Amino acid sequence: MSETRVFNFSAGPSCLPEDVLKECAAEMLNYKGSGQSVMEMSHRSAAFKPIIEHAEAQVRKLMNVPDNYKILFLQGGGSTQFAMVAENLAIHTGKAAYIETGVWAKKAAAEAKHLGVSVDVIASSADKNYSYIPRVEKVTGDYDYVYICFNNTIMGTHYEYIPDTGNIPLVADISSCVLSEELDVSKFGLLFAGAQKNLAPAGVTLVIIREDLITETPREGTPSMLSYKTHADNGSMYNTPPCYTIYVLGKVLDWIEKNGGAKGINKLNVEKAKLLYDYLDSSSAYHATAEKGNRSLMNVPFLTKENDPDKAKEINKKFVKEAEDAGLVNLAGHRLVGGMRASIYNAMPIEGVKALIAFMDKFAKENLQ
Ligand SMILES: *Cc1c(COP(=O)(O)O)cnc(C)c1O
Repeated sequence: MSETRVFNFSAGPSCLPEDVLKECAAEMLNYKGSGQSVMEMSHRSAAFKPIIEHAEAQVRKLMNVPDNYKILFLQGGGSTQFAMVAENLAIHTGKAAYIETGVWAKKAAAEAKHLGVSVDVIASSADKNYSYIPRVEKVTGDYDYVYICFNNTIMGTHYEYIPDTGNIPLVADISSCVLSEELDVSKFGLLFAGAQKNLAPAGVTLVIIREDLITETPREGTPSMLSYKTHADNGSMYNTPPCYTIYVLGKVLDWIEKNGGAKGINKLNVEKAKLLYDYLDSSSAYHATAEKGNRSLMNVPFLTKENDPDKAKEINKKFVKEAEDAGLVNLAGHRLVGGMRASIYNAMPIEGVKALIAFMDKFAKENLQ
């Protein structure tokens, strides 16, 4: 790591591979002899066309996306997908099933309801502050789709299984775990991921949708910008796409490929997460909040064992401040869980995790014993 850079544990936007940033910097003023930055190019130009085609081809290759799925690069973040999924998929019975595993799944369900979809919450882990993933073996019913949030960024939980929904399309928000592991795309009707956690800077949302779910007749009143068909018919170029972000995304995928693709990167992720969870599980000063068996490889919330809420608040503040001074930034926990959260996405090197554990150990000796 270069001397002036920190280890950034932000939940998103989050750290990018340093090699990618360097390449972008080198190409900033004159992209491949075009005399322009990718930031300045027309999205209809001959120079940009191969950039978006490359990004799409890399998604297809690295995620092993079957031929009957379309890959879309959209805007509006993961949050806009909450509405697009409902508008485009809830069109036969108008009913949808949601598994509630935390903030993002709840927001998605609330948006569908807001748009007039009849929402059934078929399982929830609210009883234990979303610290686990409910087991739903088989979903039946006349639902237009079943919705899950595959990795819960705030709660630090992750599905260890894919619910069997039979013929009902399964929709998954994979914003915070995309390409952190191998995933069988054919098990899903639609997958989406805001890019700013594991793929690119903020600004693009990756959507992978089975072709038969691209409808000409979304719910009444759906704006054309919120219709998947609009974007599928126009190769994600109905309007100006987030060109520069798509360019960086292509480079991040090249970097993932160099690291062994989804399989190789997953091996590294397992190794990094294991270091941190093993440390937390054996610590007398800290503990992880997510239940074993349902833990995220990407987002690791943890608390100190200080039980007094006021004292805990002070300790957390001190932890975050001293960590920052030590070059370990963005470790404050989400207010719904408290404590700290280390997001260790693909681009976080194992050295960052080791540095964090060393800091935690020192901080515990000085403050928590
Ligand atoms: C961050 C996040 C979102 C929201 O993404 P935006 O791009 O900010 O709209 C949705 N779902 C999950 C799982 C996330 O981590």
